[in-house]
Amino acid sequence: MSGMMRGDALKNHVFQHIVQNRTLLISDTFRKQSLTFGSQTLSKTLSSKTLLLLIAAGSLCLALAVPASADDLRAAYESQVGYALHLLEAGRYGEAEDAAQTLVAAYPDAPLPYAVRGTAALYVGSIGFARKDFNRIAYESPDPATLYGEALCDLFAKDTEGAKDRLGELGREPLSEAQKSDVAAAQAYLALLTGDTAGAAALTKQEAGASGTLAAEVAALALSRTDPKAGAAALAHFLATTDGVPRVREQDGLRPLFDPAKPLEPNVLTPDLQQMYADRLNGSILAAKRASGEVQPCSGIVDLNPPQTLPARTALLSYSVDGQMAAMVSQPPYTFTWNTARVANGTHRVRIEAVDALGNALTTQTETVRVSNRNGTPARQLDDLGMMALKARLWSLLALRPSRKVAEWTLAQQYLTSGDKVNAGTHLENAAALDPAYKNGCSTARALFGPPARLLSLSAGSGNLRQIALTFDDGPSLAKTPALLDALDEANAPATFFVVGSRAAEAPGLLRRMAKRGDEVENHSFTHPNMNLLLLPEAESEIVRGSVVIQALTGKQPHFFRPPGGNANPAVQRLAQGCGLSVAYWTVDAVHYEDLGSPSGLVAYVLAHVHPGSIVLMHNGPEVTALAIPALVAALRAQGYSLVTLAEIAKSQTAMQAKTAPKMKE
Ligand SMILES: [Zn+2]
Repeated sequence: MSGMMRGDALKNHVFQHIVQNRTLLISDTFRKQSLTFGSQTLSKTLSSKTLLLLIAAGSLCLALAVPASADDLRAAYESQVGYALHLLEAGRYGEAEDAAQTLVAAYPDAPLPYAVRGTAALYVGSIGFARKDFNRIAYESPDPATLYGEALCDLFAKDTEGAKDRLGELGREPLSEAQKSDVAAAQAYLALLTGDTAGAAALTKQEAGASGTLAAEVAALALSRTDPKAGAAALAHFLATTDGVPRVREQDGLRPLFDPAKPLEPNVLTPDLQQMYADRLNGSILAAKRASGEVQPCSGIVDLNPPQTLPARTALLSYSVDGQMAAMVSQPPYTFTWNTARVANGTHRVRIEAVDALGNALTTQTETVRVSNRNGTPARQLDDLGMMALKARLWSLLALRPSRKVAEWTLAQQYLTSGDKVNAGTHLENAAALDPAYKNGCSTARALFGPPARLLSLSAGSGNLRQIALTFDDGPSLAKTPALLDALDEANAPATFFVVGSRAAEAPGLLRRMAKRGDEVENHSFTHPNMNLLLLPEAESEIVRGSVVIQALTGKQPHFFRPPGGNANPAVQRLAQGCGLSVAYWTVDAVHYEDLGSPSGLVAYVLAHVHPGSIVLMHNGPEVTALAIPALVAALRAQGYSLVTLAEIAKSQTAMQAKTAPKMKE
């Protein structure tokens, strides 16, 4: 902003700024108090506030006399509730719990914040906290989500009778069509859980063939109890219509386990994480109690003052209330005059941050204030104002999702019963990829796949045949891999790719192209960790997930596992072998010349070091590798070598050998 503005133009400009920064406005209609940060006391000054207009150098600070409105208040409330729900939807549970906690502290009289916090607690499996929150609002706010949340608490606690009562009660409430089917699916699940197969089937009749719903899964599982063959077909249909392949992770949400001993599973599964969230919940609830009990109430216009001593480089002070920017003040003494009527009556967190001229935070301080305006908006009224969209989001966070892993595992059991070990193994492995800890899926799947891989490890062929295998690690990459495939097409050379499962899942077309070329697509783990640093179950999960992705995208089982960086101790080697994979090392490592970016250097180095049966290690990514392919392939063929895949090289190798990785070239 430059020069002078007059009257409406200036007011308009300031207004824009306020809107952009979601800045709280200031009114002159209240008596004034003052709150100094860094001290524990609130002092009343009782001076009267008049129109305040601060335009700081650089257009930063402002304040304007505009009366408080219920709309602003509702907008602030909605945006805070929406943000907490967004964090839950995005799987950011720790932050979601923080945001929900702030909400409850800010609007202790409004029901919805408790429902949000209860939902956050359910997601991390803190059932006691969830129940407290839902119970607290059950009578004053008989919102469907509250009753449904209570039913979920019952289910978590294995109280099927309680859950049945709540869902029955809920069924008599006015519900949307979507809510009705969610409730019916949950009731059908309960029926199945308590052995009432006919009841479950009747409840899901409408949606039996639907794609990817809990009702469809319940219907398929109910059917498989009375008619295994038809049930298997229904389960296969359910799986085929639930999400795309490959799925190596369940979608976020609360999942049923179809197990009376454990009817529901929270979203966060590791005990450490659950403990961490439980501690946080414990801590923050205590903090909120302390805040609401001990803080002196304030009302009307309050001067918020920064700490007496500020860092020398302080250029401006930023104030936020309940996580939302309220004002930036760039003039000493950096007082922000806050109209508390802009927030609901209740406890609010005010954060003040000293910022230097470059925008770096210097110090931060948070204070809790309890707002109590005589004519203030009672928070409980907020929930009645157009909160339908937010309530629908809360509901869909709570609505039970289908469980792919249960369906995969159950289908595997059906195949086992009918003697089809191959399909049983595939579906068990799928279940294990979704959740390696589920019912010992990994080891059961391994046992089903019959004998372990013939070779424990491989780093060269026997040398009897003049064969070379070109192998390419990492990727695939949508940006880099096509050029390499083009070069291999041009040279008409077969290749063996060691792909990273998580990246392969994002580039299914590239894997299909490799398979179509007749290349081998092999396992280079799922996330490219150092396998030696993992616990064995984690290592197993890396291998199984990597294989499942390749199988899903190419239709072929991989036969080799190349550990990232060549790191595989004997335990990891045996694990891979048990999964039907030989550990694949290499004879010649070209990474040095890939790093140098020298195609001719790469060709010369490989030519100087290969011999019959060599496995050449290159990478799927560097531009230099694709550039070197034509000359490399031509030169190898000129020396009488035939280019083959790794499986061909392995055929000539008969010894069961335990090897460690050849040293990687620096
Ligand atoms: Zn790698």
